[in-house]
Amino acid sequence: MDRDALDARAHIPIVEMPKVVPIVDHRTVRPDRSARPIDLPTTATPVAGRLDTLGRGLHDLRISVTDRCNFRCTYCMPKEVFDRNHSFLPHRDLLTFEEIERVARTFVSLGVEKIRLTGGEPLLRKDLEVLVEKLAAIERPGDAHERIDLTLTTNGSLLRKKAAALKRAGLRRVTVSLDALDDAAFRAMNDVDFPVAAVLDGIDAAAEAGLGPVKVNMVVKRGTNDDQILPMVERFRHTGHILRLIEFMDVGTTNGWRLDDVVASGEVIRRIHARYPLDPLDANYPGEVAERWRFRDGGGEIGVISSVTHAFCGSCTRARLSPEGSLYTCLFAGRGHDLRALLRSAATDADVELAVSTIWGRRADRYSELRSAPHATATPRVEMSYIGG
Ligand code: SF4
Repeated sequence: MDRDALDARAHIPIVEMPKVVPIVDHRTVRPDRSARPIDLPTTATPVAGRLDTLGRGLHDLRISVTDRCNFRCTYCMPKEVFDRNHSFLPHRDLLTFEEIERVARTFVSLGVEKIRLTGGEPLLRKDLEVLVEKLAAIERPGDAHERIDLTLTTNGSLLRKKAAALKRAGLRRVTVSLDALDDAAFRAMNDVDFPVAAVLDGIDAAAEAGLGPVKVNMVVKRGTNDDQILPMVERFRHTGHILRLIEFMDVGTTNGWRLDDVVASGEVIRRIHARYPLDPLDANYPGEVAERWRFRDGGGEIGVISSVTHAFCGSCTRARLSPEGSLYTCLFAGRGHDLRALLRSAATDADVELAVSTIWGRRADRYSELRSAPHATATPRVEMSYIGG
């Protein structure tokens, strides 16, 4: 593939992006997790398949089961913010497994087909496989008795211990976050001196348990780990695992994001293509976030996620549930909607459905498309470690 075709396929922006994107650095500010109370409309009925104001359906739900993590990745939970004095959510504030199952059933009845468990580090939530079993049993509406696609994103540190039980409980696949192959670089990035070998072993354990193909998510930050792109590619070629390289995003307010830190997906693809020629692949389904490429020599496939240089808000069908039951309709939203209060009130399942359907029907989020608009303003937003990526 020639350079022009490669650039066009990889969505390399033709116009230079502005170098200044408004962002608040709240490293010393405690997060505002207050959620909006939900006012139920009195006359409406819930609408399965309802579209939001931009015509997007509700197909995916990400459920964060804990705000805790055993890593302190510098771009996600930097130590200077998430230190000994940081107050994580007390257990009583977390949704119970029964409450999560009830919310999940509501979303599935409204059209959700995929549920991803996230955190924090979801495997830190005690007995997570019990929740997995409850969710895996949920059937989609219709006579086909189809089950939902249930997956999980993890840092991999506990996978060796948990993979087999998760598979038995009904989990289908896992995605493992791994930002470097070099042990010293990885230990520096996770900032708790965790060895890369243990994560690689966790990936093996997931594959052995049948949780494949394992996707390996690498957030690429210029000057920090972009020298790890080729070693990561080499490590995961011919393994059946799918490496996905993600542009460093301005999620949350604590990671000190600057546009200069972003390595555009186009550049990532060019660097890999120069060593291991690539050809583009079609998306697996409409709205797939990752752009897929295959190694011309049969070494498997990789993906790039161009969250900054090629916003995909137009096909964003994801809702997010926080550990204590706030519903967010965008990864960059400042506040969620307080579903927990509804769940712990006398509300019926129909009330919960109506609430979700109404919130979705009013949704107009498209932060990534607006990020670099001329008059974009900095807004408070939820932390990735709390809501999942
Ligand atoms: S910025 Fe918000 S609306 Fe756009 S793709 Fe991300 S989560 Fe979806």
